[in-house]
Amino acid sequence: MRWGIFCDIHANLEALDAVLAALAGERIDRYLCLGDIVGYGANPRECIAEIKKIDAPTIAGNHDWAAVGLFDIAYFNPAAKAAVLWTRQNLAYEDKEFLKNLDLIHREEELTLVHASLQNPGQFEYILDISSAARTFELLRTRLCFIGHSHAPLIFIKEGENYSFTFQAKVKLKASRMYIINAGSVGQPRDADPRASYVVYDSESEDVEIKRVPYDVQKAQEKIIKAGLPTTLAERLAAGR
Ligand code: ZN
Repeated sequence: MRWGIFCDIHANLEALDAVLAALAGERIDRYLCLGDIVGYGANPRECIAEIKKIDAPTIAGNHDWAAVGLFDIAYFNPAAKAAVLWTRQNLAYEDKEFLKNLDLIHREEELTLVHASLQNPGQFEYILDISSAARTFELLRTRLCFIGHSHAPLIFIKEGENYSFTFQAKVKLKASRMYIINAGSVGQPRDADPRASYVVYDSESEDVEIKRVPYDVQKAQEKIIKAGLPTTLAERLAAGR
């Protein structure tokens, strides 16, 4: 089985369409979405519609919850806060119902999906180092965990009591190991590579590959400016920051 896994779309339709077009050529059997469909970008409704169309099991991200009042935005930075308020005004009732009904954790076969971490999943705590990864490994009941949230692709590995991480894009899975795989971000990468990020997991060959695809950054930027969203949200897309 081949899985197409992605997250942190952030209402960037140009980036999402580029990823879905790339995945269409990958013989994908099943799509999975790790949350943050909305927030920051100018096309939240269109992005929700695309996700519904591909029938991808989807979990909630902090921006999805913030957009429907389920997550406190007191600690969001000013641009993120402005984007949440804009998004709330630009979603239809049915979009809000969709976001409200997303689960925080999804499990199927050998995979667990969670937006940020398994420890207090509704608090969206970052996994950025070995110690935060270890706390999620302790709670993990499957061999693989796919996450997003930091917008920077990265793979954590547990073998016995040994923990490590790699920035390698392609990893051959080993039966003796557990993995936490950060899929990076479709619509707002922050690892200095502006291209949209996504993952292909092949459960037969046991390959996990983090892939990148360019998209029309300028078009996404123009829409952000035109919508009256903070201009910093447009600028950062070109730098991948
Ligand atoms: Zn995000």
